[in-house]
Amino acid sequence: MKAFVMKEIGRVGFLEKPLPRPGPNDAVVRTTRALICTSDSHTVAGGIGPRENLTLGHEAVGVVHDVGSEVKIFQPGDRVLVGAITPEWGQPAAQAGYSSQSGAPLGGWKFSNSKDGVFAEYFHVNEADANMAKIPDAVPDDMAVYCADMLSTGFMGAEHGNIPIGGTVAVLAQGPVGLMATAGARLRGAGFVIGVESVPARQTLARTYGADEIVDFTKEDVVDRIFELTGREGVDTAIEALGADSTFQTAVKITKPGGTVSNTGYFGEGEFVRIPRVEWGVGMADKTIATGLCPGGRLRMERLLRVLENKRVDPTLMTTHTFRFDEMERAFEVADRKLDDVIKPLIVF
Ligand SMILES: [Zn+2]
Repeated sequence: MKAFVMKEIGRVGFLEKPLPRPGPNDAVVRTTRALICTSDSHTVAGGIGPRENLTLGHEAVGVVHDVGSEVKIFQPGDRVLVGAITPEWGQPAAQAGYSSQSGAPLGGWKFSNSKDGVFAEYFHVNEADANMAKIPDAVPDDMAVYCADMLSTGFMGAEHGNIPIGGTVAVLAQGPVGLMATAGARLRGAGFVIGVESVPARQTLARTYGADEIVDFTKEDVVDRIFELTGREGVDTAIEALGADSTFQTAVKITKPGGTVSNTGYFGEGEFVRIPRVEWGVGMADKTIATGLCPGGRLRMERLLRVLENKRVDPTLMTTHTFRFDEMERAFEVADRKLDDVIKPLIVF
């Protein structure tokens, strides 16, 4: 089968690989749709260290091709969503409710990390009964594929943010995760949502997904403006959706005492992330800093699919580009170099 791989740090391309085979509890899925993620770029740039011919990708849906003898819920022909996070559910962290941390920090993230990813004609799913979900008939593949990571991560930002009904929320950066955090904040009952973003197309989408106000950091001071918009109070919840030192500091500054900074960003550089001491209340301001990687599991995927089935959110508005799988090199370049106002490139198999 054809797979799109990271040949080494900084180099990608196609490679022929053998069709994977399922163990007793596993499945093999024939890929129908996938999305390229910023994390794929981080990986190719060396974010998880050197890898040789590792198949990229962790966001996909498909049709079950084969299942192991112990798989009970799925059979060949089922249309399925597979979470980006596919833990071993026997691990203590997964049993304690932290599925993305199974075995080690971020250990639930296996695709294109500790095993081959989903940018291939077929891919392997461990513990299939726990890590896949059937896609409802009313939800097309183009839409369901967003649940693998973007909805799960963005919504996690809102869930970890402990948003009071009617509370105030700022979402810092409106990339695909930030946009889904904005949608998630509305679903969680926020009374006022501020989106921080400078790119006009993303500002427009942020409003569509539920932002009441947009703050453009290239035109105004974000901290000043958010205090102005919240009656000098700050927000109940600041969701960091970029992964930058300055954005994280802004999140701490704009969060009111008792509030929560909910981080979804990937901090790939430097030895430390800095917390602004005074605005952190010299360590005593009752500000919670929550962190997480998108949770996995069938139950979560089924919940996310229900959000789509009942038309609470339409993530396909983020699909700015569509490529065939054989155009993957170009697709990756567009995503990696953020060309042509890309938000999410969809790959059709
Ligand atoms: Zn992703």
